[in-house]
Amino acid sequence: MVCCRCKKEPKESTCEACGMPMKQKEDFGTKADGSPSSQYCVHCFQKGKLIGGKKKN
Ligand SMILES: [Zn+2]
Repeated sequence: MVCCRCKKEPKESTCEACGMPMKQKEDFGTKADGSPSSQYCVHCFQKGKLIGGKKKN
């Protein structure tokens, strides 16, 4: 049985750059070694590099 009052949601990962919630494996960015980044989403971080799509400038 699940106690809904004490059930804790696992900390949800959100992209630190754009704030997008990352739920699926595909949502996570990739580090240089190919491992998933828990900090940035795939739209912002690929292969260890931040790819700012919406930067001023
Ligand atoms: Zn992002």
